Amino acid sequence: MADPKGFLTTPRQDWPRRPVEERVGDWDEVYVPGALLPIISRQADRCMDCGIPFCHDACPLGNLIPEWNDLVSREDWRAAADRLHATNNFPEFTGRLCPAPCEAGCVLAINQPAVTIKNVECAVADRAWADGFAPPRPPDRLSGRTVAVIGSGPAGLAAAQQLTRAGHTVAVFEKDDRIGGLMRYGIPAFKMEKHHLERRIEQMRAEGTKFRASTAVGRDIGAAELRSRYDAVVVATGATAWRELPVPGRELAGIEQAMAYLPLANRVCEGDLESSPMSAAGKHVVIVGGGDTGADCLGTAVREGAASVTQLDIYALPDTERDDDAEPWPTYPKVYRLSAAHEEARDLRTAPAADADARLFAASTLRFTGDEAGHVRWLRLVEVDARRGPVPGTERILPADLVLLALGFSGPDRADGLVEQLGLDLEPRGTVRRDAGFATSAPGVFAAGDAARGQSLVVWAIAEGRAVAAAVDRYLTGSSRLPAPISPYDRPMAV
Ligand SMILES: Cc1cc2nc3c(=O)[nH]c(=O)nc-3n(C[C@H](O)[C@H](O)[C@H](O)COP(=O)(O)OP(=O)(O)OC[C@H]3O[C@@H](n4cnc5c(N)ncnc54)[C@H](O)[C@@H]3O)c2cc1C
Ligand code: SF4
Repeated sequence: MADPKGFLTTPRQDWPRRPVEERVGDWDEVYVPGALLPIISRQADRCMDCGIPFCHDACPLGNLIPEWNDLVSREDWRAAADRLHATNNFPEFTGRLCPAPCEAGCVLAINQPAVTIKNVECAVADRAWADGFAPPRPPDRLSGRTVAVIGSGPAGLAAAQQLTRAGHTVAVFEKDDRIGGLMRYGIPAFKMEKHHLERRIEQMRAEGTKFRASTAVGRDIGAAELRSRYDAVVVATGATAWRELPVPGRELAGIEQAMAYLPLANRVCEGDLESSPMSAAGKHVVIVGGGDTGADCLGTAVREGAASVTQLDIYALPDTERDDDAEPWPTYPKVYRLSAAHEEARDLRTAPAADADARLFAASTLRFTGDEAGHVRWLRLVEVDARRGPVPGTERILPADLVLLALGFSGPDRADGLVEQLGLDLEPRGTVRRDAGFATSAPGVFAAGDAARGQSLVVWAIAEGRAVAAAVDRYLTGSSRLPAPISPYDRPMAV
């Protein structure tokens, strides 16, 4: 703690975002380039170096937050980068994408704005790359053991990097044409530009990890064959089986799943397409679903030039302050948050009918109606009470030329036949069953990330990848010195 009074003298200051009018004209990250470093050391000074640092417990990776806050406040960037990489393979991903449960758990947040932990993490990670503190770390010697990792999202990548560095020969199989999972085709570039992914993949290649893109295990290569060719297999295939909205009119053209829509916009940014075949340009867009995927659709539709965009959330408008009885500190509270996409929608007034920013809260879709050509044109909704019962007299219609369903995911996508070919047992909710050591019902096959945990976050996926790597290493060699930050049964801090 370089300045013991930092939390008393310095107010919280976040990494400023670019002006709305400017940033909706491109797909670059929303933050002002170069504006974080000049402010971050004083922000790190606000850390109180708590005797019991709840920030550390609130992070599934067990990030050594007070230690790197201290190092950043002293501007010792090399040591900060070492401490950060000791617990997190990909801090430039979480520094941009994480909802930061660590900040909800920060002791300072009891009566002041929390330390800007996520910004500090991002600054350390970016500085590490700029100053050459993140070189490839190939193993000293090879173990002679081989591992196949299926899926290249954050869980698969973290597992692969840990196992490669431990000396095993690792191949990552990915059915998409590019590596990265939902961070590649899902999360928009304005939240995380894809060069951050490329740089890590190059680092991993230089360490010895092999990548096999455009290879769906179960379809392009038999899962059982893979099992016989490798000493161990890690299933990290994500949970992308989307939920449906079974209401009248669902069959109309122009009603799309969010995860059919978002990857096309990603492909435009990658240069694969000139424009998206589902582009929102000139259309009245309604997004059904109030979560982060819906917010990503919102930011994308605004950038594509939609005529209007409204987001429907079945939950009531949350309070701006934490409910100290229901969700006391240090848990992660459900409060009103204004994401970058919501800020854009609010300032540009994209949703004339909305309650706040672009969102209509406590809104439930009743049906869609279309034109003679069978294309959706209207969405009828009703306001609901806390028990989701319709409030009489609140029905209304919204114009809707493009409807995006962002209702969450029910579990792993089973279309490739991987689950059947490996003979994996599933939990009742469809996720891959595993024991306390991340082992599935098939010998030598382990499971990690959303495929086993269910829909979650990048930070949990990285923690899963690190923990499954320790389990696989132990299976292959009898013991392991790799860290295991979580067990399969750990869950976010709750009351
Ligand atoms: C639109 C969207 C936005 C999100 N935004 C955020 C955010 O801002 N912050 C955050 O923390 N979390 C966010 N999440 C959640 C986060 O992306 C996921 O929790 C995380 O990516 C899960 O990682 P994973 O490695 O388990 O799976 P995934 O990232 O889903 O990766 C699984 C990979 O496995 C591949 N695969 C599947 N089956 C096969 C097969 N048979 N053969 C070969 N490959 C296969 C898939 O193609 C995919 O690439 C978001 C999710 C979505 C959908
Ligand atoms: S809880 Fe907050 S103030 Fe305390 S050590 Fe962690 S970041 Fe610093």
